[in-house]
Amino acid sequence: MPVVIVENDTSQWEDETGAVYHFPKRYQTWLAQGTEVVYYKGRIKDKAFASVRLSADPHYFGKARIGKVYADRRSDKGDLFALIENFTPFENAVPSKIAGEYLETIPASRVRNYWRDGVRPISQTDYDAILSHAKLLPSAVDEPVADMEDGSLTFESASEGSKTSYFGTRYERRKDLRMKAIAIHGLDCKACGFDFEQAYGEHAKGFIHVHHVVPISDFGGEKVVNPETDLVTLCANCHAVVHRKRDMTLSIDALKGMLRGRWVIEPQ
Ligand SMILES: [Zn+2]
Ligand SMILES: [Zn+2]
Repeated sequence: MPVVIVENDTSQWEDETGAVYHFPKRYQTWLAQGTEVVYYKGRIKDKAFASVRLSADPHYFGKARIGKVYADRRSDKGDLFALIENFTPFENAVPSKIAGEYLETIPASRVRNYWRDGVRPISQTDYDAILSHAKLLPSAVDEPVADMEDGSLTFESASEGSKTSYFGTRYERRKDLRMKAIAIHGLDCKACGFDFEQAYGEHAKGFIHVHHVVPISDFGGEKVVNPETDLVTLCANCHAVVHRKRDMTLSIDALKGMLRGRWVIEPQ
């Protein structure tokens, strides 16, 4: 059964449209892997978001499919998050109501509180009706993060006089994969445990590098990237060391071994 998922303009979760969707446990049965979903936004509450929405009125703005679902380790209420696959944005806002009729069929028992739910199963007929009003844009999953944006630092190398980006592959720059990797692996370095927010405070909150563990040369062309097994979060130092030698990308275990070898173990 298709499902409408609501995206709020502001959320306690760092949801990323088309990449990651957090939801309370009670919606788990509706959001199984493979479920077709339509993205929805309610009426605008804060005008500051007008420029990032297709419409101020309640509307549908994209379709996608639910990927793998994970427990959110940061939640003490058993919340979950789903990876979002095949996100296809609409060119136009599809209004919730056309010619006086809602596109979603509201059950008689739910008239009073229907729109309160953030996840709403709908019939195939309603799903088709919504899509019949939508012009689909090309899938946006190949969009890289802008240069110098969070996590894509470029370092000036004094000795070589050239700029070196420590994001070695285009998979490390793709925004949706980056958000998925962070949701799964967290914001701490998987080699040394460094946490930018803990060390630097609020200013560094959310900063981490995402590293692709299979070197691009071993990759053999196109392959679906699995953010759970193919990507890992690293601090800027560890990431730089992993890519220090162009022809030899270190494994995370090799890096951990180096760190252990260097550190002096303090007597208990
Ligand atoms: Zn590190
Ligand atoms: Zn890397």
